[in-house]
Amino acid sequence: MHPDLEKVLFSEEEILACVDRMGRQLSADYDGKNPLFICVLKGAVLFMADLVKRVTIPLEMDFMATSSYGAASKSSGVVRILKDLERPVEGRHVVIVEDIIDTGLTLAYLKEVLLHRRAASVKVAALFDKPEGRKMEIEADYRGFVVPNEFIVGYGLDYAERYRNLPYVGVLKPEVYER
Ligand code: 5GP
Ligand code: MG
Ligand code: MG
Repeated sequence: MHPDLEKVLFSEEEILACVDRMGRQLSADYDGKNPLFICVLKGAVLFMADLVKRVTIPLEMDFMATSSYGAASKSSGVVRILKDLERPVEGRHVVIVEDIIDTGLTLAYLKEVLLHRRAASVKVAALFDKPEGRKMEIEADYRGFVVPNEFIVGYGLDYAERYRNLPYVGVLKPEVYER
């Protein structure tokens, strides 16, 4: 375990077993639809990579970056598009691939944008969910783990851009925030 962590919540094996289940479900549900998987950078990048390897039907990928957090560990409540998609989504069956849903602000905003652009359907695959943090009424269509209302890092999730490369997910020691 990384010395900055207080505890590990999900091991690499647990995460990959869960991603495997999600990949199989998506393969069944989107058969024949050539879905467009949209990875929300940067947090979902590890999840996206492991997920698409487990989807056995044809799909396309695109990437989007949003910002709401800055360097802090609390949401500012404002969502901005920092990087937009390369191609139109009109008529496409879209799966938004997200690392975690907390307030739901990011997803509510993204869903609205994609539906406004006339996607044929928009669903959400989120690896982690913090239901206690919710400010908007939005739920994942494909959900990995429910997590307690704690700030987690690893497997794509950062604190001040660090810890994204940990293959597992955990909680930082309190003193790490005071540095
Ligand atoms: P929202 O509050 O809009 O649902 O979440 C926006 C984004 O904040 C998430 O996609 C994720 O990148 C980040 N976020 C939310 N909760 C956590 C957390 O516990 N840890 C980390 N590292 N990022 C989080
Ligand atoms: Mg995210
Ligand atoms: Mg972040």
